[in-house]
Amino acid sequence: MSAAEEFTVSAAEVSDAFTALYGYAPAGVWAAPGRVNLIGEYTDFNEGFVMPLALPHTAVAAVARRDDGILRVHSADVAGPVVELTVDGLTPLSDGGWAAYPAGVVWALRDAGHAVGGGADVHLASTVPTGAGLSSSAALEVVTALALSDLYELRLTRSELALLAQRAENAFVGVPCGVMDQMASAACEAGHVLHLDCRDLSVRQVPFDLAGDGLTLLVVDTRVKHALGDGAYAERRAGCEAGARALGVSHLRDVPFAELPSALDRLPGADDRVRRYVRHVVSDDHRVERVISLLNAGDVRGIGPVLTEGHASLRDDLRISCPELDLVVEAAGAAGALGARMTGGGFGGSAVVLAEAADADAVAKSVREAFAGAGFAAPRVFPAVASAGARRL
Ligand code: ADP
Ligand code: MG
Repeated sequence: MSAAEEFTVSAAEVSDAFTALYGYAPAGVWAAPGRVNLIGEYTDFNEGFVMPLALPHTAVAAVARRDDGILRVHSADVAGPVVELTVDGLTPLSDGGWAAYPAGVVWALRDAGHAVGGGADVHLASTVPTGAGLSSSAALEVVTALALSDLYELRLTRSELALLAQRAENAFVGVPCGVMDQMASAACEAGHVLHLDCRDLSVRQVPFDLAGDGLTLLVVDTRVKHALGDGAYAERRAGCEAGARALGVSHLRDVPFAELPSALDRLPGADDRVRRYVRHVVSDDHRVERVISLLNAGDVRGIGPVLTEGHASLRDDLRISCPELDLVVEAAGAAGALGARMTGGGFGGSAVVLAEAADADAVAKSVREAFAGAGFAAPRVFPAVASAGARRL
């Protein structure tokens, strides 16, 4: 079984389950992946740069269009009956549980003027681990958005799909996320990492054939999610905005790396917090540039230390790491990995580790042993193979 097969639910399986559930066959089956971010963290809402790659893990949805204004959604991964809603009655922030993600997409589409009022029947199943910082929520939103775009012949572009999915999560579910996760799920391509400019959503597909270079990118899911993370994202975001205001720029993306020292000098010395956030964002945007240069030069191994440097910045300046994530980076480094960093929102979730393919098993073993030694629950470790973005199956 290939890595991709192992992490994918088959279209036939989801289609059959739809038929068993609703009593008729779906119009089609769509898939959208989870992601890991290679570098560029908390830079998306600063209109900076990120470099995610899609995972082989996907949310797969069988969908049919309706014409009576009813939306029915069901997940194979959640115990419970079909959730039935009326399209006209969709209300933001109404605490609809998991169904808020697909329902939010229908709401966002209508709010943007797209005629999807007929409704739909949706059955989905996902192999993206939930709450692990791998964007299971974005996968759910994007697969729903793509299916509806196809069924209602909206012909939405990848950026439009991502923005609508983000709006669903921000305004309907109530999670203030940036646009990286949805863009990664919508626009990534197999064998590539996505160089995304979060200002104008322009993308460049950068070839990323780690296996061809004898390398492996491991994902280590710590399986922890510290409650601290809930308010921290909004706090970091507000701090970044305060930094941009104090520096007279619209977003921190507009502070060139070469001007970082003088920018820091210009910030009120009293608030060390804002200075740290500015330093993280401006230096992480620069790390994206460095990774691009290294990849362009064919020096894939050279990105290892840049990843580890990025982790230190997230740990010490942004302060969104946690003991489990720090231990992954430390243990992987001690076991000979080329570099490692936490990925995603922080306070738990997952880390990425770049290692020689020949060393990957030993590195994974060392991380597991370090976790056992520290009394942490066993992490889940798997290779991140750069996979395709959202698609009809
Ligand atoms: P992440 O996106 O990092 O996995 P989030 O907290 O943003 O974590 O999103 C996780 C939520 O998305 C879950 O709590 C659930 O509501 C929803 N979700 C994800 N996958 C599924 C699924 N397969 N079935 C139903 N709901 C899901
Ligand atoms: Mg999410």
